[in-house]
Amino acid sequence: MSASPPAFSDVVSALEVMHCSEFWHWTAESNPFEVVVGAILVQHTNWTNAERALARLRLAGILEPKLLAGLTDKEIEELIRSSGEYHTKAKKLRAFLCLIARYGSLEALLEEPVHKLRDQLLDTWGIGEETADAIVLYAARQPAVVVDGYTRRLFGRLGLGPSPSDSYREWQAYLKAELPESVQELAAFHAFVVLHAKKLCLARHPRCSDCNLASRCAFANDPPLPP
Ligand code: SF4
Repeated sequence: MSASPPAFSDVVSALEVMHCSEFWHWTAESNPFEVVVGAILVQHTNWTNAERALARLRLAGILEPKLLAGLTDKEIEELIRSSGEYHTKAKKLRAFLCLIARYGSLEALLEEPVHKLRDQLLDTWGIGEETADAIVLYAARQPAVVVDGYTRRLFGRLGLGPSPSDSYREWQAYLKAELPESVQELAAFHAFVVLHAKKLCLARHPRCSDCNLASRCAFANDPPLPP
């Protein structure tokens, strides 16, 4: 028999209890340009590969907009190779560097009001909704709700939210209605969701016996039959 889904606030509390002491790569002290570059490099790969590329850029001493813009596409590709899709990602970085150049500085861009900033990001080649919201939240430190595959999987399994295949906009509207507007809390929420999905709520063989949400989780109480 299926358990009744937990209240949203209980999910947030449980995630915090399970993951508050774990490492998350972006904090309030993170360098905004590193956050932007990381948000682009992590597309279609995992954080370990993106971090490896970031480390090479850091070691080369060019993790600043003007310095990176001075490199050729080939030089950027070589440095970010470990993040995969490096031809495309070098072009995406170049497009973002052009956006910064139009504003004069990254700071000027990130100071735009949240709606304008999001629109500017979405108008930039290679930046979709998830990357734009991650940049708004973790680089500009302005309120944004980030929706990713981990969010859909976790809440879908708990029996909460829209259908896992519903649009980004529908998921964002659902989460926005439940979450506070505080940047700190929004940033922590997304971090906890990702940590949970990577450590316990795995795509295959989730570790439900170690999860504080198991007693109220639809998936744990009534797992789908294998195909
Ligand atoms: S009980 Fe299992 S399926 Fe449910 S949220 Fe926890 S890890 Fe995921």
